[in-house]
Amino acid sequence: MQYCKECVFTPKIEDVERSPYIDVLLGTEIKEISGGFGNRHVKVVQDGKEKEFDVGTIVVATGSATFDPRKIPAYAYGMSPDIMTSMEFIDIMRHADTKGLRKPSSGDIPKVVNFVLCVGSRDAARGNPHCSLVCCTYTIGIAKEVKKLSPETDVYVHYIDLRGPYRGFEEFYSEARDMGINFVRGKVAEVMPTDGKLLVRTEDTDAGVMLSIESDIVVLAVGQEPSEGADRIAKMLHIQTDVDKFMKDVNPMLPPESRRGIYIVGCAQGPKGIRYSIDDAKTVAQEIVALMDAGQISVERTTAKVDENRCRGCGRCAEACVFKAITLVPKEGGRVASIDEYLCEGCGACNAVCCNKAMGMNNYDADQILPLIRALIQEVE
Ligand SMILES: Cc1cc2nc3c(=O)[nH]c(=O)nc-3n(C[C@H](O)[C@H](O)[C@H](O)COP(=O)(O)OP(=O)(O)OC[C@H]3O[C@@H](n4cnc5c(N)ncnc54)[C@H](O)[C@@H]3O)c2cc1C
Ligand code: SF4
Ligand code: SF4
Ligand code: SF4
Repeated sequence: MQYCKECVFTPKIEDVERSPYIDVLLGTEIKEISGGFGNRHVKVVQDGKEKEFDVGTIVVATGSATFDPRKIPAYAYGMSPDIMTSMEFIDIMRHADTKGLRKPSSGDIPKVVNFVLCVGSRDAARGNPHCSLVCCTYTIGIAKEVKKLSPETDVYVHYIDLRGPYRGFEEFYSEARDMGINFVRGKVAEVMPTDGKLLVRTEDTDAGVMLSIESDIVVLAVGQEPSEGADRIAKMLHIQTDVDKFMKDVNPMLPPESRRGIYIVGCAQGPKGIRYSIDDAKTVAQEIVALMDAGQISVERTTAKVDENRCRGCGRCAEACVFKAITLVPKEGGRVASIDEYLCEGCGACNAVCCNKAMGMNNYDADQILPLIRALIQEVE
């Protein structure tokens, strides 16, 4: 029995929408997030109206976007309806059941279909340096569907190397070869629309020959990159981003308080398949339920502290604190810095900017640290 995505997800979405415990806010923009662990305030705008919520935990599931192939002009995306992204081709395949697979520009059965892998991935010069992880697998899946629908169609898959670190991938790939799908190792140089056809110019690096393949359809396997606006959410929640610009998660081996009540799941963390995205969500849901069920949590924290006798109230520390944990309060005709220990994340930025040595960290005073260092040095000597 075959299950389509809609059949699997529609009942789940309806369950969520009907649940008296879940508010679904569609078309909503998050404006501001304030507060700290276990007690944050989220301001959103929906249909021009501002709403505010108090929340205990936040799960970031902003997913990924797909690479825009226009950024690689050599692939001529947009210059012919027969050059398309994988999603556009999947859409055509979906409607192909009754009509058979057709070439968009002419309505003819395509004689040759070429798939180009790694479009916008593993290519720092023209896209992203990272591997998008899922495109080899889904492309082989689509290529097989083409062969099933139209066995006479010649199918080529152009790859740098095939990556599918999943159990069963090797068999999945071997089956594709047995079905007659041609795998060509080499980076496609260009796709040229000419007289109703498309010319795919590439090198077969295994055979050491240059190829020019006349094609009816070219499918660009576009990679995954961070979704639009995800960086804004990351900044609001003080989540670091990684070299690939996806969000950096806290090591799951660390205790729950190191996450500050903020969880990142699915492709917001980086390219991954559906199964791994669902696994993330389930693990996080269990941790959140346990956290909320407990009602309270003991947290060992390292926070900043002010020496009010040294503080001159200049406010540089308050400017440096991204967690908004410092305010300036009046004192003896002037003002001094004051720390909200609940909001302080112990990052130490305020210590670094204070020219008057008025900022320190609790339990990390010089007279606590220096004896430790001296003892260590003596041990080494
Ligand atoms: C072409 C293609 C084919 C794929 N094929 C496969 C496959 O065959 N098998 C497989 O396992 N995986 C496949 N994947 C990967 C799969 O799509 C992902 O693993 C999965 O969608 C990740 O789910 P997610 O919930 O993390 O993110 P998404 O599915 O991307 O969902 C994120 C959601 O967040 C919303 N959003 C984003 N930003 C904001 C914001 N600022 N505010 C509010 N909402 C926001 C988006 O609108 C979206 O609804 C494929 C991916 C692509 C691109
Ligand atoms: S999964 Fe395959 S097609 Fe996608 S970026 Fe990695 S190697 Fe390229
Ligand atoms: S930077 Fe130093 S001196 Fe200035 S307000 Fe902060 S603690 Fe006080
Ligand atoms: S250590 Fe200083 S800068 Fe960092 S969060 Fe605490 S008060 Fe803010």
